[in-house]
Amino acid sequence: MAQIKAIYNSKIVCPVCNSNIEYTKVRSKTIRLIKQDSDFCPYYEGENPLLYEAVICPECGYGAHVTTFSKINRYDKVKVSKNITSKWHKRSFVGERTIDQALEAFKIVLLNLNTMESLKSETAKICMRIAWLYRYKEDSENEKKFLEYALQNYKDAYSEEDLTEEGKLDEYTCLYIIGELYKRLELYEESTQWLSRLIMSYADPQQKPKISQRLIETTRDLYQEVKDIVAATKEEH
Ligand SMILES: [Zn+2]
Repeated sequence: MAQIKAIYNSKIVCPVCNSNIEYTKVRSKTIRLIKQDSDFCPYYEGENPLLYEAVICPECGYGAHVTTFSKINRYDKVKVSKNITSKWHKRSFVGERTIDQALEAFKIVLLNLNTMESLKSETAKICMRIAWLYRYKEDSENEKKFLEYALQNYKDAYSEEDLTEEGKLDEYTCLYIIGELYKRLELYEESTQWLSRLIMSYADPQQKPKISQRLIETTRDLYQEVKDIVAATKEEH
């Protein structure tokens, strides 16, 4: 029996130029999540679906995360036509992707987001993915750069956006990620400040039911880990 191909092409209409376009997806049956880093960076057995999450229109250069590709308002459509399409050279993005090709696609998405009045949480999500792709490549310098961008955007999202909307990152996970990113960037004081905000929220009976057991346990472990790092560095001096 022929082996099932891990990737296949699907059709979608580009909301900016109305072309019928194809994009590549990974069959979920062919993959298995092996593990995730503490900032949720995933590792798979089989093809990595993360490489295919950036969908680019070959005709006009509009690009977005696969989950938000069709959700663009008319003002942003005009901005994409004006700032992206005018400079775009038609090219295809379907088929198997290497990490470098995925990086290129995600960076086009980031260019699109920077053109629009995009949500900070969406920009943060894309920056995280770019950082993870650099992590797969063991390019720690670029990984750090994009973790910093992600952190800034998550902080802005936390203060500016309504994170109670369904389908969005919730405010407690956002607090955790900010604490985790500060730790990765070796800014331990800031890390404990943000993590303790989440731990204090859990102590509030009104907020407690909104925070999952798993998230609070992970947060407490991380908080202790960061405290230990700080204590160890103080001993050294
Ligand atoms: Zn298009």
